[in-house]
Amino acid sequence: MTPDSDIPPRPRPGQLTFTAPRRARPPRHLADLTMAQRREALRELGLPAFRAAQLSVHYFDRLVTDPAQMTDLPATQRAELVQALLPTLLTPVRTLTADAGATVKTVWRLHDGALVESVVMRYPDRVTICVSSQAGCGMNCPFCATGQAGLTRNLSAAEIVEQVVAAARSLRDGGLAGGREELPLARRVSNVVFMGMGEALANYAASVAAVRRLVDAPPEGLGLSARGLTMSTVGLVTAMDTFAAEGLPVTLALSLHAPDDELRNELVPLNTRWPVAEVLDAAHRYFTATRRRVSIEYALIRDVNDQAWRADLLARELTRRGHGWVHVNPIPLNPTPGSRWTASRPGVQQQFVERLVAAGIPTTVRDTRGREIDGACGQLAASSSS
Ligand code: SAH
Repeated sequence: MTPDSDIPPRPRPGQLTFTAPRRARPPRHLADLTMAQRREALRELGLPAFRAAQLSVHYFDRLVTDPAQMTDLPATQRAELVQALLPTLLTPVRTLTADAGATVKTVWRLHDGALVESVVMRYPDRVTICVSSQAGCGMNCPFCATGQAGLTRNLSAAEIVEQVVAAARSLRDGGLAGGREELPLARRVSNVVFMGMGEALANYAASVAAVRRLVDAPPEGLGLSARGLTMSTVGLVTAMDTFAAEGLPVTLALSLHAPDDELRNELVPLNTRWPVAEVLDAAHRYFTATRRRVSIEYALIRDVNDQAWRADLLARELTRRGHGWVHVNPIPLNPTPGSRWTASRPGVQQQFVERLVAAGIPTTVRDTRGREIDGACGQLAASSSS
């Protein structure tokens, strides 16, 4: 879709370069297709095209894939229709819960054995699901658990959507009962963040198709508000511009982590291709095109990127491009196994935030739910957790 989809993962120093074995594509699924494409797919199989809408109601409205529950369809055709458009894409390998059941991480096995994770977080006023867009990741950020294993493969649109449908189903069925029960915990998925495994913009076509399925009105899609969606990227500039032109009011999160090229080259290796100035310009263009305030992600790493001068430099780089277009989300680093880095000291974090706020930049320290189940940002590494 974009030239960026084809960037080969940069080998790490000392690591042997090899091409991942070609994997069989996941089976085609209703959620990969628009309604017109669903009808066409059924027609090609010699099945009645008008069944596409009925199947779509089952999947997107009722969250049902069991033929036995599809009583409006002729019993003789149900199995065939389900096989044609609702194949099983994700099988749960295990689930881990935290926050008294209000945070649930699921490890999923895909049809070819690849593993990915998703995390559902239930709050009083919203439910956020963090989805994976790739098995593994080719971006090689040294502080991120997923980056350490390299890229296995892209997910299909339906494999991404299925993570959200599974969360919606689990909520409906009481699978996220926990949390502080005295609060009226939200009952429906309201937010989807592409912050699980993978670089979604490097899997552009499938990620955008997934976004469309999430926001399309039922029964074509799930009918979520695009304003509740966040696309997170290391800064693939051409894909950011393409995404800005899609006309979707989705929030963009840019994983910056350093305001200067010298350090960002190390923390986010893609910076050697698109440096800080270019990714910030692209983030600002995204704001101009969508009027959605951009989030800057900044993992605070002790004595690495948390100095007061870097907070000031970040503030300058942001304000010189305008006001009101951006906010900063610092997050204390989640140390990954074997990493030489750790989180900033609380006082240093506080000072970093205060300097940004003093410069007029809205700044919110990101929630770190699910740390103890390795469900928090950057800790997803399915291959080692199964
Ligand atoms: N590829 C996308 C999504 C990655 S995960 C991106 O890079 O934006 C979502 C966020 O978690 C990113 O901002 C990522 O930099 C951050 N992250 C990764 N590892 C982390 C860690 N160990 N501690 C804190 N944040 C981390």
